[in-house]
Amino acid sequence: MLAYIRRVGIFHMARYKKKIVVLGGGFAGLQCALKLENYFKSDSEYEIVLVAEDNFLLFTPMLPQVASGMIETRHVVMPLRAIIKHSTFYEGRIKNIDPYGKIVNLWGSGEKRGISLHYDYLVLALGSETNFFGMGDLEKNAYQMKTLNDAVMVRNRIIDMLEQAENEKNPILKQSLLTFVIVGGGFAGIETAGEIHDLLLDVIKYYPNISKDDIKVVVLEAGGEILPGFSKNLIDFTFKKMTQHGIEIKLKTGVTSFDGDEVMAKSFDSENSEPISIQSKTVIWTAGVTPVNTIKRSLFKTDKGRIAVDRYLEVKEFPGVFGIGDCSVFFDKKTNRPYAPTAQLAEAMAKTAAKNLHAKISNQPMTEFEYTPRGQMAIIGKRTGIASFFGMNLHGLFAWFLWRNVYLSKVPTWEKRFRVFLDWVADAIFDRDISRLKFMRNEAGKEYKELDEVDDVW
Ligand SMILES: Cc1cc2nc3c(=O)[nH]c(=O)nc-3n(C[C@H](O)[C@H](O)[C@H](O)COP(=O)(O)OP(=O)(O)OC[C@H]3O[C@@H](n4cnc5c(N)ncnc54)[C@H](O)[C@@H]3O)c2cc1C
Repeated sequence: MLAYIRRVGIFHMARYKKKIVVLGGGFAGLQCALKLENYFKSDSEYEIVLVAEDNFLLFTPMLPQVASGMIETRHVVMPLRAIIKHSTFYEGRIKNIDPYGKIVNLWGSGEKRGISLHYDYLVLALGSETNFFGMGDLEKNAYQMKTLNDAVMVRNRIIDMLEQAENEKNPILKQSLLTFVIVGGGFAGIETAGEIHDLLLDVIKYYPNISKDDIKVVVLEAGGEILPGFSKNLIDFTFKKMTQHGIEIKLKTGVTSFDGDEVMAKSFDSENSEPISIQSKTVIWTAGVTPVNTIKRSLFKTDKGRIAVDRYLEVKEFPGVFGIGDCSVFFDKKTNRPYAPTAQLAEAMAKTAAKNLHAKISNQPMTEFEYTPRGQMAIIGKRTGIASFFGMNLHGLFAWFLWRNVYLSKVPTWEKRFRVFLDWVADAIFDRDISRLKFMRNEAGKEYKELDEVDDVW
């Protein structure tokens, strides 16, 4: 701050606005920025700054439908600039955060200036990434379902496998090309399995040498049940329906390796301790998330990598810094266990954090974060869904229809809502598109080289 005063002088100092910087443009970060805009819209002393690596919000609940080609890629992303009204936006990858100097540094590259942003208040909402639990071979060989790139890669892979299997004469190789293994029986795994199974059955009509019986979709879940958090009868319904549709679900089965050709797993069932081997070329890993490295390597206190926050969502050691969404951990008072990371929780935390930031700045008491989940829903393929809310458990076509309505209403812009709706209508009328688009597998952040950083860009 003193350096700034020296450089710009007292006159410019009069125009200095206090900065509330929100890191992350996902469900938590965007919601928090929007709430802060509301609180501070008539207060010219404060500037709200939103920073994210991508300039869009990714609507993850519809990601499996991108992988199945039902929804067009761009329709599940919403440009942040089209949603925010009074915030300043920086597209950039965060290099590090200095909570003592109150500085956030963004990477620079050959074409992009590195930037240092000073903050007065900070909201950390950097989300999570896929957790491979240290299994390097899986990280290298498996596909994921976390980013837009992942969904596009999975779709291309499925089409590629069909193209290869169609002309394959070796029956063993053909079977392994047509076997798709999904690891993880949570939301992402079950919805992905249902969607890709639907895609496969929809498009095999273009492949005369492939029959329905050649297709194998297998879900491997290390725990004793799928979709934890749903009631037993909805879990049983899902299990039964997916099995009837032809999807194999193996519970208490932990994957130990995947070399690109064979999945090895072990059973946690005491009656069956034989190692399990599945010949498959395609594994989609959805078995867990972990906070992004920027958080894990930060100076903030973490609990299993997630930022530890108090009951007001503030980081105790650094007043004025709040942690929300997947990158933070908040314990359910009733169970004494952390809440599962969901978009619903992320948005609820965002609202409380914005409220508490405003209260703190206005010298008002802050509010404890209270969370009551509004219910949950999932779609499991073949126009079938499950839903539980307000104490009701629904399943089948009605729950599927409800899922579509609820999630469509949650898409933040009317334009994208309309486009998604049109995609659904088109999908009901026309066949799926089997053109395989050639994208590179890795989009890694390699382009972000550390070059000269620009100091004090305010
Ligand atoms: C396939 C799938 C389906 C799901 N379905 C549901 C569902 O139906 N219902 C539900 O409630 N939840 C669902 N979830 C979970 C939900 O997506 C997450 O809980 C939610 O996205 C968390 O929000 P967040 O803002 O904390 O993180 P994110 O949405 O992950 O946002 C993180 C933000 O931080 C940015 N970021 C990260 N690192 C950096 C960096 N170094 N520099 C700059 N920016 C960075 C990212 O670009 C992004 O903008 C699903 C998740 C997946 C993967």
